[in-house]
Amino acid sequence: MLPTMEETLNQAERSALVKKIIELEKVQLYKDPADLLVQIERWGAWLINGSAWLDFDDPTPDDRELGELLTTALALDLEAVYAICRNVVPFVLDGTKPERWTEPGDYDTDKVRASIKWKKMELGIGAKSYEELRVEQEESRRHARAEARKIRQVPRHNHEREMAKQLREDGSSRLQLARSLSAKLKGQPETASGMLCPACKRPSVWFFIEPEQKTSASCNHSNSCGWWGSLFDLARLS
Ligand SMILES: [Zn+2]
Repeated sequence: MLPTMEETLNQAERSALVKKIIELEKVQLYKDPADLLVQIERWGAWLINGSAWLDFDDPTPDDRELGELLTTALALDLEAVYAICRNVVPFVLDGTKPERWTEPGDYDTDKVRASIKWKKMELGIGAKSYEELRVEQEESRRHARAEARKIRQVPRHNHEREMAKQLREDGSSRLQLARSLSAKLKGQPETASGMLCPACKRPSVWFFIEPEQKTSASCNHSNSCGWWGSLFDLARLS
């Protein structure tokens, strides 16, 4: 049997975990805790691997540490992380604070697992078991550590990072991407919509042309899909 979260993470790490899950929920306001859980998993992998976070600089040692914390918690004690998600959603949406963040409440574990598996398939993450994910995470951690040891003479992904930066900050590059994806343009502030979602393949992705309010792109089907990413992600996956 795998050790529980209480046995594996110390008090400070458990608090950090809850704090970060609250931060993520505040950005996306998921109504379904399983959506939040799936996004935590994506986030953990990104923080370790860095490749999908081209918007940002390469992960710092702190980012990696957070990535490892998230993925370790998920791999070891999925149900405790899910319990935190179940408590974080009402906390962020209407201020209900639980007595204990890891208090699981009343739910059917099999149903939760089935729903998470389905959501992951919808998001194109694949229906991997957490055991398989754990092996992959070990592998990516090894890789991250090896990368961190290398002294980089030449910055990687310079070109890609420049593109990602433009798509994040520059309205005319964003407009160009919208046109190339045959988006509908309307409204004030101007919104591009109707682009094909990389996860659910429906014409339901939208973003703001001017990045002031929100730089990322999101799928409209927040319950059945929930995909979101940077415009660079969208360009790359489309
Ligand atoms: Zn979608």
